Amino acid sequence: MRIIDRVYIDGSFVEPHGEQWAPLFNPATEEQIGKVRLADEEDANRAVAAARRAFPAFSNTSKEERITVLKRLHAAVSERAGDLVEAMRVEYGAPSSFIDFAARRAGNVFLDMAKTLESYDFRRRIGRADVEMRPSGVAVAITPWNSNYSFICGKLSAAIASDSTMVIKPSEMSAIQTQVITECLHEAALSKGVFNIVTGYGAVVGAALTANRDVSKITFTGSTVTGRAIAQTAAATMKRVTMELGGKSPSIILDDADLEVAIPHVLAAGFLNSGQACIAGTRILVPESRRDEIEARLKEAAKVFTVGDPGDREVRIGPLVSRKQWDRVQGYLRLGQEEGATLLIGGEGRPEGLDRGWFVRPTIFSGVRNDMRIAREEIFGPVLCVLSYRDEEEAIAIANATDYGLQANVFSSDLERAKRVADRIEAGRVIINGAPHEPFAPFGGFKQCGFGREFGVFGVFGLEAFLEPRAVIA
Ligand code: NDP
Repeated sequence: MRIIDRVYIDGSFVEPHGEQWAPLFNPATEEQIGKVRLADEEDANRAVAAARRAFPAFSNTSKEERITVLKRLHAAVSERAGDLVEAMRVEYGAPSSFIDFAARRAGNVFLDMAKTLESYDFRRRIGRADVEMRPSGVAVAITPWNSNYSFICGKLSAAIASDSTMVIKPSEMSAIQTQVITECLHEAALSKGVFNIVTGYGAVVGAALTANRDVSKITFTGSTVTGRAIAQTAAATMKRVTMELGGKSPSIILDDADLEVAIPHVLAAGFLNSGQACIAGTRILVPESRRDEIEARLKEAAKVFTVGDPGDREVRIGPLVSRKQWDRVQGYLRLGQEEGATLLIGGEGRPEGLDRGWFVRPTIFSGVRNDMRIAREEIFGPVLCVLSYRDEEEAIAIANATDYGLQANVFSSDLERAKRVADRIEAGRVIINGAPHEPFAPFGGFKQCGFGREFGVFGVFGLEAFLEPRAVIA
């Protein structure tokens, strides 16, 4: 039983003022594996005070010093990659394919940010003005459970690069992963108060941080509903806000697509992180003329997406994070059938042979119309919808007929055609033929996926989201 009874404030692991505890579970077994003592409003405000005290000195460090700090953070996080992997497996149940990527990326984001910093000019001359990019102040990061340490490291890297100090509030469901990553960050020996980590309930700690007048910037990853509430509170004190919210990404298979290439990528994009990914390609758009062929191939190819113990490297889909998520996804599996969609594979209940753990049967609905709730709402589980279209125009129209716009996938044998279609998609990222991850591209969404961007080289996206231009005109 893992007992986590400290928060991280002002450079030390300290006892929280909050006295509430939350249980921690292994989602693959449903067993309680630990408990975490939660921070409260007083801890949140204490963490902001520490970040505020650290701000004057830290906000005047040189670019070179910050690059050194970022490299130290990279080394400290990479050193414990094995512990991060284990914590994510036990506490969250992600499959190896996702954990390997997340653990590597957690360390690498610091190096990527150091590289961005090298080429970023904080001072520029515009006409008679000397313009300097200054940090906006104390920043707050509020992060979800589905890729705990990637979010913590990604947001912290931008704060450090921009000279901001930070308070991080992760999801309490990820407390073991948070403990390991906090130990790594502590090893990097930053000045006291530069970063602080307070695990607690969103409605308590998250709300206190959002309302705190000494916070200038909030960077949030989570659901659209919570993002909306945070943005409303933040508006009262005009905090700068970056929002990375939900998604309902389309995977468009054009009629000339090579299905040998497209089908495995479509399924990998849809079942990514057991379906608990904002970028998951959950709407599969197929040409009516090839629908039967594509559905048959999807059904066959889905067999390799085995569900089970995330410790088994062959497993491609792990459990959902909690009983609550499991119940929610079961509700959508019922709803899809009530709405008139048919099951190509999967359905309600647990996969065969798994009688415990929050496992869901990988499901593909066929005959889905874009006005059905299963096609419009983020399900956050391994549940995909196949929608058919008559021609390219209709494919683009369906792809864009959504409140979201985070990511899209396009598959075609003709790269120029795929690019023409990509140019008309309302999404922050469009991936053609399953292209590999590009860490220097900006990340974020159109429409109700939020606003602002993270990452991106040359500093114009994620880094500048933490900066304010100050013009001195002589
Ligand atoms: P939530 O929005 O419920 O929670 C995210 C974080 O916000 C948690 O730390 C939560 O705390 C906190 N929070 C909740 N209420 C408040 C509040 N009133 N004020 C401040 N903070 C609050 O999302 P989930 O945890 O359920 O995560 C899944 C969602 O995240 C999905 O919708 C998904 O699409 C989205 N997501 C978006 C990504 C992107 O980059 N666009 C990437 C990954 C996920 P607590 O845990 O206590 O509730």
